[in-house]
Amino acid sequence: MSFPHLLQPLDLGFTTLQNRVFMGSMHTRLEHEEGGMARLAAFYGARAKGETGLIITGGFAPNDAALLGEGGRTFKNASQIPEQRLIADAVHREGGKVCLQILHTGRYAKHDNIVGPSNIRSPINPRVPRPLTAKEVEQTIEDYAMTAALSREAGYDGVELMGSEGYFIHQFLAPRSNNRSDEWGGSFESRMRLPLEIIKRVRQRVGKDFIVVYRISVLDLVEGGNTGEEILTLARAVEQAGVDLLNSGIGWHDAPVPTIVYAVPRATWRFAVAKVKQAVKIPVVLSNRINDPAVAEAAIASGDADMVSMARPLLADPHFAKKAREGRADEINTCIACNQACLDYIFVNKVCSCLVNPLACHETEYAMVPAAAPKKIAVVGAGPAGLACAAAAAERGHQVTLFEASGEIGGQFNCARRIPGKEEFNETLRYYRARLPRLGVKIKLNTRPGAAELASGGYDQVVVATGVTPRIPDIPGIRHPKVVSYAEAITGAKPVGKRVAIVGMGGIGYDVAEMLCVEPLPEGQRIAAFLKEWGVDTENRTQGGLLTGILQTPLPSPRKITMLQRKTGRPGGTLGLTTGWVLKTRLQRHQVEMIGGVSYDKIDDEGLHYTVNGERKALVVDTVVVCAGQESSRELYDELVSLGMKPALIGGAEKAAELDAVYAIREGTRLGMAL
Ligand code: NAP
Ligand code: SF4
Repeated sequence: MSFPHLLQPLDLGFTTLQNRVFMGSMHTRLEHEEGGMARLAAFYGARAKGETGLIITGGFAPNDAALLGEGGRTFKNASQIPEQRLIADAVHREGGKVCLQILHTGRYAKHDNIVGPSNIRSPINPRVPRPLTAKEVEQTIEDYAMTAALSREAGYDGVELMGSEGYFIHQFLAPRSNNRSDEWGGSFESRMRLPLEIIKRVRQRVGKDFIVVYRISVLDLVEGGNTGEEILTLARAVEQAGVDLLNSGIGWHDAPVPTIVYAVPRATWRFAVAKVKQAVKIPVVLSNRINDPAVAEAAIASGDADMVSMARPLLADPHFAKKAREGRADEINTCIACNQACLDYIFVNKVCSCLVNPLACHETEYAMVPAAAPKKIAVVGAGPAGLACAAAAAERGHQVTLFEASGEIGGQFNCARRIPGKEEFNETLRYYRARLPRLGVKIKLNTRPGAAELASGGYDQVVVATGVTPRIPDIPGIRHPKVVSYAEAITGAKPVGKRVAIVGMGGIGYDVAEMLCVEPLPEGQRIAAFLKEWGVDTENRTQGGLLTGILQTPLPSPRKITMLQRKTGRPGGTLGLTTGWVLKTRLQRHQVEMIGGVSYDKIDDEGLHYTVNGERKALVVDTVVVCAGQESSRELYDELVSLGMKPALIGGAEKAAELDAVYAIREGTRLGMAL
């Protein structure tokens, strides 16, 4: 499949971008690390090598107050030019182009010198911002211009001015955060003065032949945000003020609507970007939940956008554009929008990486070095850990045979991919299906090799990645016909009735509840259903583009579902930080009941009997779905050890408790790179 629109160069008049692939800005937290700028240079250099048309760095603050928190980086004086030059040079060496993002976090800041247009705090930050004086606003504009000028000196091709997601500039634009009565507040004309002044001042300082990108919010998704009309007025005004490219953003960080997680169908926000595109002549960039070259191609071909921004997809695969150009789109390691190793890491102050690509942000630590002497390797088990290990080992030149007892690769991913909204997990399996044969890996499905066979097979190394088996809890009646395992429920191997009890409230319990309370929809209806469910005003007539009352309205469910766990405490505590709230909101709206602190008494014809707070109760249900975690399958490993072999053990077979795919793929990859 070719992608003529996506791969077409974009002429900006004074410079030409090699294609329409735009790497959106992302926090990586590398800037907090020792040697972080060199690591950032390697990170962006790899994305330039992958033929990304234009890269935008993570945000750098124009002054101290603009920082998100301790340890962030400013770019405000000439002494910082050499460290910034590392990034510009690394990208240019690979033939790419790069803009530095200037980011002022305003009232999102997590430090005491927090400022904003007014003293209105953000709902997601306990700190109240100090309103800037008019003189300080002037100084801040100067600071933006200074950072832009320094960026030019450091060798960057341009700057991006972050005007969306509820950051500082956006805070001036919206009534929800700006109640000033001076020349920086009041009417929309006054509220939009700040971005316009910044653009003009930046342009004066950097000249005409320097890319200036403005990231505009095309839909705020918060009360007291901007209306559609205001957004179009702003788009035309920033174009007039001298911007070269208009990037798009969706929603404030405190929006009650998910904008980028897997539950958001691909290209959901295209309609909002298309409206801005119609209002201006400069190129417009579509962003949020585009992870596939065909989807990007369709958006550009239709005229809804000129470029497509992909931040996480380029974390997942730095060679996205190159593979698309070389006709190897099936080898793109697709971002599955899980947030598990990128945003969820950032929120707990860890360096960002990627579930499907553990090398992301670790480019200087790991290099795929060809093996000095190719070995014959058997990997047993084609779940995430085994697949990752087989791929890494084969890429280094080893001869790898991958055994899988079932008829398909994927292991636990074969459950995840069947959950509505988690269809993206299919892409990871498609990637391995395409990539492994090309790396020469022999895949033997429906094959369960015995220890003796492996011992006599002439392998230099056996890797045991036999995964997990669902835990069968010790509850009287657990073999009753109305009991099904999560795997049986998810794959449809056994039917699930209308009244359901779910034993276990971990990630899989939540996923199963979601699957059972949501009617699956054909692909063509998913975007409209999503927008309706989350109350998005697609006409954007309201302030912020949200229809009132929708999020508080219960949703119908085809089943009556009750989830249980033995622990007391907050349900859903083990879910992803940036995705769990979406799942919890949906289950709440579908009226799923949750009971903690139970002990299970028995399962019989009536249903599930349990005790809570010393009181014995019975849940009358048709089906009990067991989602009680997993146990390692390591018989093969033990047998190999008893034969005197030294097998390696990875993934769930090594550690079932709190096993997650991030760990499985990272350990599989590391082992493959070390063999
Ligand atoms: P899990 O997160 O460990 O949860 C297991 C659940 O089973 C817990 O609620 C636990 O609660 C219960 N349980 C454990 N032993 C039990 C026993 N003997 N009898 C009855 N109940 C028992 O495991 P999981 O849900 O299978 O998930 C596996 C991994 O995949 C986890 O790392 C999870 O984070 C990840 N995952 C995440 C998501 C997501 O974030 N959306 C989705 C799927 C999977 P009590 O012990 O309190 O009863
Ligand atoms: Fe995408 Fe998940 Fe990787 Fe983040 S961790 S880049 S969401 S695949």
